Amino acid sequence: MSDWPTIRPLCAGYLMDQDVSNVLYQRRAGEKADFPCIIFVIEVGGRKILFDTGPSHPERAEAFHMPLRRDAGMDPALSLPRIGVDPDRVDLVIMSHLHWDHCGNNHLFPNATFLVQKAELQHAIAPNVWQNTQYETATRKTAPLWFDSFKQMEIIEGDRHDLVTGVHLIHLPGHTPGLMGAAVETRKGVHMIASDAVPWIDNWEGDARAKHIPSTIHTNLDDCARSFKKIEEIADVVLASHDNRTLRHGVYPVLDG
Ligand SMILES: [Zn+2]
Repeated sequence: MSDWPTIRPLCAGYLMDQDVSNVLYQRRAGEKADFPCIIFVIEVGGRKILFDTGPSHPERAEAFHMPLRRDAGMDPALSLPRIGVDPDRVDLVIMSHLHWDHCGNNHLFPNATFLVQKAELQHAIAPNVWQNTQYETATRKTAPLWFDSFKQMEIIEGDRHDLVTGVHLIHLPGHTPGLMGAAVETRKGVHMIASDAVPWIDNWEGDARAKHIPSTIHTNLDDCARSFKKIEEIADVVLASHDNRTLRHGVYPVLDG
């Protein structure tokens, strides 16, 4: 066993029948796909740190957002123990941002501290009208999902926060003002868990028109451009948040042979 950090992606459900142009700005309108919602377990020095908790249960997703398919075993209450993570013993959860499909299972972690960027928390309380659904601030029927863990939140502020040896939180605004990725130093290079700064790997790889493609859902395109530049400077490998290709490997880094 080595002491190098590893990363395990887990699918916590599928957003059904989504238009691909929802993630690829001004591209591939009319093409449909099911988008996985991926959470990550970072194992470093024997400690297991969670990155996001995935969407809320299918009934709530359907009522407030969109149809969600959660196959048997995709519930984090089941999938985490299967890889040796006891939710009761998780003490640290990185909140990439507070959209409903990233913080929907915070209640499973009563003993965790949830790390959130100051700009994200400020935005989540009174988002613009086009994002108040994602933050659940528009329903008036119930408190937003992220309220569940408000008392457990710790504020992170700034461009880069060295969390533990080999894991750094990187502010990547654009999709939302306080989006935060995690740069993990693995034995095969720095892996950036980019959350919705890179929902599909196509966002990162770009096309003939652009080196990178922002998400269609964004609060600031100039921030998107700056965040892509930041990822370029830091990362050797980029892990996308809603892309089946992230799930091709059960663990990162991918080692040869
Ligand atoms: Zn999002």
